[in-house]
Amino acid sequence: MTPLLHGQDLYRSFGQTPALQGATLSVTAGEIVAVMGPSGSGKSTLLHCLAGIFLPDRGEVWFDGQRLDQMSDTSRTRLRRTDFGFVFQFGQLVPELTVADNVAIPQLLGRVSRKRAYAQATSWLDRLGLGDLRGRRTGELSGGQAQRVAIARALVSQPRVLFADEPTGSLDSATGDKVMELLVVAARQENAAVVLVTHDARVARSADRTVSVHDGRVTQPADAQPAAARAAAARAAAAQPAAARAEGAR
Ligand code: ADP
Repeated sequence: MTPLLHGQDLYRSFGQTPALQGATLSVTAGEIVAVMGPSGSGKSTLLHCLAGIFLPDRGEVWFDGQRLDQMSDTSRTRLRRTDFGFVFQFGQLVPELTVADNVAIPQLLGRVSRKRAYAQATSWLDRLGLGDLRGRRTGELSGGQAQRVAIARALVSQPRVLFADEPTGSLDSATGDKVMELLVVAARQENAAVVLVTHDARVARSADRTVSVHDGRVTQPADAQPAAARAAAARAAAAQPAAARAEGAR
């Protein structure tokens, strides 16, 4: 299947610090991919490059047949507004505004009429069980409620890709599980692809596929490799002396 979003051989440094060193990742429409890996391995930088927030130093980012990394700033910003949604660890909501205002903002920026923007916001808040909170300021909400508002805001413009960076990182595990379940169900209903950065194996279980990032590169799991590559890897492992295998497993 042709990927909807594809980052090929991405490199990105911050000064002398290399964050990505040849990372490749594809996501197809409607697929939920969890990106795992140790802190500092490059997960967030990969997400930001795929979303066109950072430009890679080298490599290519393709979205729906277009080179995202070669677009003008204006086109990338417009595309992010129309086709991408974002949920980050701390919601990024405006605390002084109401729940309904926060969810309506992306629509209002996209020149949807005020009436329609608020009607859509209300419908999403109802879907996520937040209808009663629509008039509350987001600064007064619990962490779990705030993340549900962030999900509503990310999905209200019906994005084709939802980027989530540690969306449950600030929540206790029971609340985090509920928020993840809502995110996954809503994304699937909308047929949105999801790139989900997490260090939490419980969260990754909700995904269709998990990849790992180490030292700025993406490792695909064994079962996602073509059969020939799997067989070659198995042959190489079998040929390795037992002592070397034990050393590598440490
Ligand atoms: P992860 O999401 O896996 O924790 P990051 O992508 O945030 O990893 O970071 C990868 C590397 O790039 C780290 O060494 C980090 O310190 C560095 N880095 C990330 N963002 C910046 C930045 N804005 N300025 C300087 N260094 C950064």
